[in-house]
Amino acid sequence: MTTPDTARVQSASLSPDKVMHKLVSLAKRRGFIFPSSEIYGGLSSCFDYGPLGSEMKRNIKELWWNAMTRRHQNIVGIDASIMMNPTVWEASGHVSSFNDPLIDDRTTKRRYRADHLIENHIEKLRRDGRDEDALRVQAAYEAAGGSDEPNRALYELIIAEAIKAPDTGSADWTEVRQFNLMFQCNMGAVADSSGTVYLRPETAQGIFVNFHNVREASRMKVPFGIAQIGKAFRNEIVKGNFIFRMVEFEQMEMQYFVKPGTQAEAFETWREERYGWYTAQLGLSPEKLHWYKHDKLAHYADLAYDIKFDFPFGTEEIEGIHSRTDFDLTRHQEYSGKNMEYVDQVTNERYVPYVVETSAGCDRLFLAVLSDAYTEDVVDGEERVLLKLAPKVAPVKAAVLPLMKKGGMGEAAMKLRDELAESFAVQYDDAASIGKRYRRQDEIGTPFCVTVDHESLENGTVTVRFRDTAAQERIQMSQAAAFISARLA
Ligand code: ATP
Repeated sequence: MTTPDTARVQSASLSPDKVMHKLVSLAKRRGFIFPSSEIYGGLSSCFDYGPLGSEMKRNIKELWWNAMTRRHQNIVGIDASIMMNPTVWEASGHVSSFNDPLIDDRTTKRRYRADHLIENHIEKLRRDGRDEDALRVQAAYEAAGGSDEPNRALYELIIAEAIKAPDTGSADWTEVRQFNLMFQCNMGAVADSSGTVYLRPETAQGIFVNFHNVREASRMKVPFGIAQIGKAFRNEIVKGNFIFRMVEFEQMEMQYFVKPGTQAEAFETWREERYGWYTAQLGLSPEKLHWYKHDKLAHYADLAYDIKFDFPFGTEEIEGIHSRTDFDLTRHQEYSGKNMEYVDQVTNERYVPYVVETSAGCDRLFLAVLSDAYTEDVVDGEERVLLKLAPKVAPVKAAVLPLMKKGGMGEAAMKLRDELAESFAVQYDDAASIGKRYRRQDEIGTPFCVTVDHESLENGTVTVRFRDTAAQERIQMSQAAAFISARLA
């Protein structure tokens, strides 16, 4: 065995503003993410996941699904349809109030979310140690939400605080206007309002309307949860930052139904569990994760926190954890005329359950993982780019590389590839020098490179090279699958 020689690897400094540019380029070049319908000039905020991207996205979803359903005796999954009876969205409040307050800058012609401008301003005041000012603006912000003319109140607050556009520093503001984010389409042959349906803007409602179906079919007793991974659609006007904000994206949501009065305890449990998942399962750097408590709550919530992540372009939300009270089930009871109560078989108590929701965006997690993993360093004096992905998340777990294609090494390596492919995603590569092939794998985050050389043909051993340290270890070829599998757990 060759011992790890960390002195061979030296870290290189990397400026955050360049990282996004490099990531977007790497993502396209290596087949993680392509602009959608690129040959026609693309479509704003729409992206396609390529061969490596779809593999990695699948890994993220699998990790979430295992953690949120299979690990829990009392949580089950569903896969509800994207289009639903339109009354669902009246009951949920989306038709009347799924709006963003938008504001334009006349000089730069750029558009911003008025609420985001104010929230970022409050955060900056806090960071600058101006806690009293932060509290004053926070109070005015909350009052704006409840005022008769919320748009006017938001506008006045932005002007009074002299809030500038974060990217341009300009502040030539128009009035604030509301914009509904739901995509409408027509179902059936007649294009009038009777056929109007919506592309769901969140996956949660598919869970609420199936509350009794799932409870009865799976014999669930409160507390229990229903989880779902699926597409959601929002006509986001403020776009940008690659896959951070898309109009079509994938959510991973779990609604946990509890007895009223017990929601605070359930909330704490889920808050802890979700935060832990990011470091233990997804492998994100703990110092880049932060809590953000919502002072201004949505009309349905009695407590809400976001998990935020330090992206190269700023600290932004990746998951929301919300205590949603009995709002959703009560509204569906009202609008559908169907009883949404739960009857406790032991105590005979009847109640509409309260809900604690965990809601993450798969694409944002993908970007968080990718940006956290992007590294440049120097190995044996040679610069390289590598993705330090957790082995569980990496799209390719191992690459099998014959030192030379000739002399039986190519055949032996291909045989080993086929064997490893039974257990995990693996690539075979025999083109270019071994050093170049290592770099190709480093750049896509492959944690293990298995090299078949002359010795392999003589004594059945291979070398395993570790991505981060570039150290190598010689093992029995017959043990390669077990050796790598043990390191993927
Ligand atoms: P934001 O304030 O960034 O618009 P949100 O608070 O509206 O997000 P939620 O409705 O709580 O988001 O949705 C839950 C999760 O879904 C978010 O934490 C995020 O990861 C993801 N998400 C929401 N909107 C988008 C989008 N347009 N593109 C990609 N992911 C999104």
